Amino acid sequence: MCTRRNLVAASLAAAVAVSLNAPAAFAQDQKVPVIATFSILGDLVKNVGGDRVEVTTLVGADTDSHVYAPTPADAKRAGAAKVVFINGLGFEGWITRLVKASGTKAPTITVSNGIKTRKMEDDHGHGHKPTDPHAWQSVGNAKIYVANIRDGLIAADPAGRSVYEANASAYLAKLDALEAEVKAVIGEIPADRRRIITSHDAFGYFGAAYGIEFIAPTGVSTEAAVSARDVAKIIAQIRKQKIPAVFMENVTDPRMMEQIAKESGAKIGGRLFSDALSDEKGPAPSYIEMIRNNIHQLASALTS
Ligand SMILES: [Zn+2]
Repeated sequence: MCTRRNLVAASLAAAVAVSLNAPAAFAQDQKVPVIATFSILGDLVKNVGGDRVEVTTLVGADTDSHVYAPTPADAKRAGAAKVVFINGLGFEGWITRLVKASGTKAPTITVSNGIKTRKMEDDHGHGHKPTDPHAWQSVGNAKIYVANIRDGLIAADPAGRSVYEANASAYLAKLDALEAEVKAVIGEIPADRRRIITSHDAFGYFGAAYGIEFIAPTGVSTEAAVSARDVAKIIAQIRKQKIPAVFMENVTDPRMMEQIAKESGAKIGGRLFSDALSDEKGPAPSYIEMIRNNIHQLASALTS
């Protein structure tokens, strides 16, 4: 079947195809370089940008953006970017200085623009309740992020408009399906058990959107120190309100939560992903898998 003549013809055809495709292949190498400040946002930008963009994520998997210290390499990357995507709402306290240091002329797009913001539950003695930056934990808000990313990419690369629009609408459909799944899974948890403790207050938007009460000892940022008195207060609260479970997060030290669980008798639920994705081998390498991981961890701790 496979004669020498066929082989020669095939390799000639392949050679012609390669030379015809060469300019297109070259053009595809010129991806639009963009920055996303943290891994969750990086995944959203990749889904909208697809093959046209090269996304560099500054704060990687399992890393805390609240206390991140940018490197000279980050400034270099930001300097080469066509767009800098940030969460905003005070999440990346270090970004303004980084953008300035990089000398970049690229626009900074705040992807949370247009969401309905909420305040943190507790001021932790600061006298004012700061805006909660963790808006991505509501899938409804993530859809607003995606629309802002699409518009930011179109402004930076108008030739890619149809690609960005198609990618965004395909991804938005996946987020619609995800949100329906979240509501169905949470709906299975008895109403009087939808109350948990997490180590930092990152799930306010999630809780408000889907009807779970999250109580956190640390407040808005992982920077805040927790006193022995705070811990004692939380333990008393768990006992009084019969809170069924406490949860770890991937970006915070688990020891405090282990202590709280031991002393209060609450169950330790699984690990929730709040401010960063896992690496590829972990349970939350993308935004969609992160939300799925979190709802299944919640459901299995609260329904049993
Ligand atoms: Zn956080």
